[in-house]
Amino acid sequence: MRIAIVPGDGIGKEVVPAALPALRLLSDAFGLDITYDVLDWGADRWLADGTGLPDDALDRLPKEYAGVLLGALGDPRIPDMAHGREILLGLRTGLDLYVNHRPLHLEHGTIDLYRENTQGLYSQIGGSVGSRGRVSVAMDECVYTRDTVERFVRHCLDRLRAAGRRKVTLVHKANAVPHTGRLWQEVFRAELDRFPELTGAEEYVDAFCYHLVRDASGYEGVLASNLFGDIISDIGAALMGGLGLACSASVCPETGFALFEPVHGSAPDIAGRGIANPYATAMCLAMLLDHTGHADAAALLRNCVRHAARTGAATPDLGGTGTTVSFMSEVTALMEKRLTIEGPRQARRLPHEES
Ligand code: ATP
Repeated sequence: MRIAIVPGDGIGKEVVPAALPALRLLSDAFGLDITYDVLDWGADRWLADGTGLPDDALDRLPKEYAGVLLGALGDPRIPDMAHGREILLGLRTGLDLYVNHRPLHLEHGTIDLYRENTQGLYSQIGGSVGSRGRVSVAMDECVYTRDTVERFVRHCLDRLRAAGRRKVTLVHKANAVPHTGRLWQEVFRAELDRFPELTGAEEYVDAFCYHLVRDASGYEGVLASNLFGDIISDIGAALMGGLGLACSASVCPETGFALFEPVHGSAPDIAGRGIANPYATAMCLAMLLDHTGHADAAALLRNCVRHAARTGAATPDLGGTGTTVSFMSEVTALMEKRLTIEGPRQARRLPHEES
């Protein structure tokens, strides 16, 4: 299995290299034969030669790699994020990565948040007029096609059923945004008929956010359009304990190709200081391992990351004194210990922890 690694910008250049020894260890211990290439996409390359997403990238990636791990994109030298848009939106739309899965690991359990990743307010349809550099009228259109909503909802319901989930909530705003709202409701209700194991619920996005913060225990699976999903996942990250903890996978179910990235950005305020939390990046690796059928390796990594984060080895955002590198060294040491004591088959379970 070959993976494309894109550290990107800011703290991406710290958290991604720090997480790679864990991948190497798991690859050796479980005989996974994982190799990777590090690609230099990001602000430096954009500023040096104007390349964001290289011309042949969309062709080559699915042919040569099982997936991409991306650190972060964003750089104060490129205030409009033109390079980030070209790379991220280019990958999402060019490789049709329409399902964005953002698991929220909370005290009561995990909420599987699914965000539609290609249309809605991110369709880049709109325009503005103005004069002397001042915008006077601006418009961004929210566009959804039935095909896109259908395939997204169907895939998510299928995944939720496979994961043994019972309840799924559609988040929308059909009272104020009626056209796309109604399309989502229609499709959601129709698709739910195919999944008798699942109970459907619908909630306005504002009420949903309120309830999520007050008491998230009522939610299991959540489906949201592009913008709502983006916002909810940051609220989810805050509930988990910070942006450094939240991971995501953008998947094209038909090809199986996927892009794994932490929810956080390049965090220029802490970049270069060695204190960025690599937790989310390590959890992205666990998602990648799960996605490629290596559930044991994924569970071991996930458990050791969680365990290390509860100790003084955690990075300062979690109240610890660890650095990006020392935290991952602790995770790797924990994994080595488990592998030595238990062997790869049993190592996934830490005492008193679920896998
Ligand atoms: P960008 O412009 O790339 O989105 P940003 O700073 O606006 O960057 P984030 O990178 O998402 O947005 O970060 C928001 C804040 O959260 C940062 O100021 C940083 O302090 C904190 N943060 C984000 N990621 C991490 C992390 N991995 N470890 C520690 N703190 C983090």
